[in-house]
Amino acid sequence: MKPADLVPLPDIATLIERVVRQDVRALTPYHVPDAGGYIKLDAMENPYPLPADMRQALGALAATAALNRYPDAEASALKAALIDAMGVPAGMELLLGNGSDEIIQMLALACARPGAVMLGVEPSFAMFPLVARCCGLRFVGVPLTTDFELDADAVIAAMARDRTALVFIAYPNNPTGNLFDAAAIERVIRHAPGLVVIDEAYHPFARTSFMPRLAEFPNLLVMRTLSKLGLAGLRLGLLAGRPEWIAQLNKLRLPYNVNVLTQVVATHVLAQRAALDEQASQICAERGRVLARLGMMERVRAYPSDANFVLFRVPSAPEVFEALKEHRILIKKLAGSHPALADCLRVTVGTAAENDAFLAALAAVLAR
Ligand SMILES: *Cc1c(COP(=O)(O)O)cnc(C)c1O
Repeated sequence: MKPADLVPLPDIATLIERVVRQDVRALTPYHVPDAGGYIKLDAMENPYPLPADMRQALGALAATAALNRYPDAEASALKAALIDAMGVPAGMELLLGNGSDEIIQMLALACARPGAVMLGVEPSFAMFPLVARCCGLRFVGVPLTTDFELDADAVIAAMARDRTALVFIAYPNNPTGNLFDAAAIERVIRHAPGLVVIDEAYHPFARTSFMPRLAEFPNLLVMRTLSKLGLAGLRLGLLAGRPEWIAQLNKLRLPYNVNVLTQVVATHVLAQRAALDEQASQICAERGRVLARLGMMERVRAYPSDANFVLFRVPSAPEVFEALKEHRILIKKLAGSHPALADCLRVTVGTAAENDAFLAALAAVLAR
């Protein structure tokens, strides 16, 4: 080293400021609470494990999976199983993601031309604006009506103003739980200058879909996930649409984004999906029971749901949320996240015993 090389090294804060994008530095990280010791009703997970015989079969499959090899980059066997299980129409193709979150990211990256706009409704899934910002798109949120219905006229006006590249509509919507009017969605699709993605994460509990209608609209894509069906830990999402769209998006997909274990496990479980369908039916029955019980509680207003969770309003939601935690019950506090969600909490439908524990704790907390 020469003496001239002995310059003082910059400190880490200076380096970060020099290197990391300003908008990334300004972001707050997505927070996932530690659920250890709680009855976990915060994340729309399926509360039931897979049947014992299926878990045994999966153990054997994992034992013989070729973990020394890269996965099938095309995931052909898995795609065939998904096309069958999800009723993907003939002529449409699939893009797979490490969860649908990754698919949202691929869509945003593909559309992130300078000045590009992603549109979503508000309140809806937190990942849409987050991913938009990470990928350099401007996010425009159009408020839902006061009864959480899609305001098609407002969306159409915003799309015309901003020449929206990408519109995300969750169907059913998270966190409100409702299915928007299909005719209103159809109007949005017809007027959209770019892509419309219908996010059907909660399809197992709603059983209505835009999937059969893909061929009607050249700008429509339908996204699904295995997460809410009972395989959140597996991380598998899918996007169905015309081969031309899928081919463009596939260029942004990292080649091995769906790993060997996810491929073999998902393929096997989808072939035996009656067990998952049975669990979804049980969850729907429990949802009816939770809604009925909440409806009988004074000072609670519960909203109807086509998903595996229930949105409800209580006075002093943040206090109720903390008091439920003292009862070892973790739900989701939405109050404070959006003006339309003032006093709102969201509970995932769990097992009968978990739901009873939640309902009893809520009744006790509200009686204080
Ligand atoms: C939970 C959820 C998803 C699922 O995301 P994954 O990454 O597939 O787990 C997607 N969209 C909405 C609206 C959701 O609520």
